[in-house]
Amino acid sequence: MNRSKSDALHHEALSHLVGGVNSPVRAFKSVHGNPIYFEKASGAHVTDVDGNVLVDFVQSWGPLIHGHSHPKIIDAVHEKMLNGTSFGAPHLGEIELAKRVKKRFPHMDKVRFVSSGTEAVMSAVRLARGYTGRDMLVKFEGCYHGHVDSLMVSSGSGLATFGIASSPGIPQKTVATTLICPLDDLDAVKFLFEEHGDDIAAVVIEPLPANNGLLIQRPEFLSGLRTLCDAHESLLIFDEVISGFRFKKGSYGDLCGVTPDLTALGKVIGGGLPVGAYGARHEIMEQLSPLGPVYQAGTLSGNPLAMAAGATTLDLLDGEAYDYMEKLGALLEERMNIVLEKHGHPMRLVRMESLFWFSPGDGKPAIRADQIAKDAANLYADVHHSLLNRGYMLAPSAYEIGFISTSHDSSHILGLVTAMDEALTEMELTP
Ligand SMILES: *Cc1c(COP(=O)(O)O)cnc(C)c1O
Repeated sequence: MNRSKSDALHHEALSHLVGGVNSPVRAFKSVHGNPIYFEKASGAHVTDVDGNVLVDFVQSWGPLIHGHSHPKIIDAVHEKMLNGTSFGAPHLGEIELAKRVKKRFPHMDKVRFVSSGTEAVMSAVRLARGYTGRDMLVKFEGCYHGHVDSLMVSSGSGLATFGIASSPGIPQKTVATTLICPLDDLDAVKFLFEEHGDDIAAVVIEPLPANNGLLIQRPEFLSGLRTLCDAHESLLIFDEVISGFRFKKGSYGDLCGVTPDLTALGKVIGGGLPVGAYGARHEIMEQLSPLGPVYQAGTLSGNPLAMAAGATTLDLLDGEAYDYMEKLGALLEERMNIVLEKHGHPMRLVRMESLFWFSPGDGKPAIRADQIAKDAANLYADVHHSLLNRGYMLAPSAYEIGFISTSHDSSHILGLVTAMDEALTEMELTP
């Protein structure tokens, strides 16, 4: 596949943008290549600047549950745009989207819109701290919550419960407010509550961790967190920025029968335009300015174009849409695993409805970060490269998941499986 124009643009971008990109994972660093410059995209396909057409399973990293350029979403945005691109004042579109969000997240009496997932989680954390009057947070190794200072913390070596900053520039005093635990280890959380219970404002978790592999949590673990939070009057925050609106029966919390106090949303909620949101019951949300003392604001929050894209996206997500994506997902899971097994390749596809991940290893899929095989990145890099050359775009990182949209069909799924079969055959022939 010729990518000379992409490569030239990347080279030029290196003089103007840091590493040529505006978000690090786009840089293809972990799969050893150059980023591909997109020119346009429609449905399941993207066309790059060299004219190559790729079947896209990245879908802008999650937001595009109806694929690229869905005509109804484009029309809705276009129509709104003619009335103005930003008001900085209330408008009907905000109520429309809030009603749709509340329908799917019934524990939310009120919603606040922001412009990204990071902003949603960051603001939910501030609200939880303001509401409880406490500073400390509990987070889990392997969960990503955006680039929020107090959540960019990981465990150091050993069983340290105080984490280390995942990036320079995060004050040590901020890191010290975050306690860190392995996923699926309720005893570890219990221990933290015994030690710090009165100081813990909130437990923050991706109930379906999907940014460091797809680590499918047991409902009992999540309900255990609920019980501990209740016992210590701490809030439970579900970060469903990536998992929200992905399941027919509701949120991942709903699937597990666990209701959080606060939920943070992003990605699908904006249908490809920048939207994040957080919501909770009245007494919590009313602590937020202008009703309460906890301050949070945004010039472009509730942007009319973004609200319209979000509302149209959610309207298109009926039962039929979910059934359709589930059918494609099941087909992918079954056929892909047959091919991986046939080649004796140490990787298996794990899946929840329209979300999938190539889990390294051929045994039980990991549910904790430390269970992910260390050679994941190497295993994946070769496969990624070969699939790309066959016209299939997967995330350029072994730890990022794939997304099925309503714009995919069985030919895209079976094509990906065939491409994998060919790629693995080729790799066996050229050791
Ligand atoms: C993507 C993501 C975020 C960050 O959202 P941005 O819109 O990239 O700021 C936060 N939490 C989770 C679970 C995510 O998947």
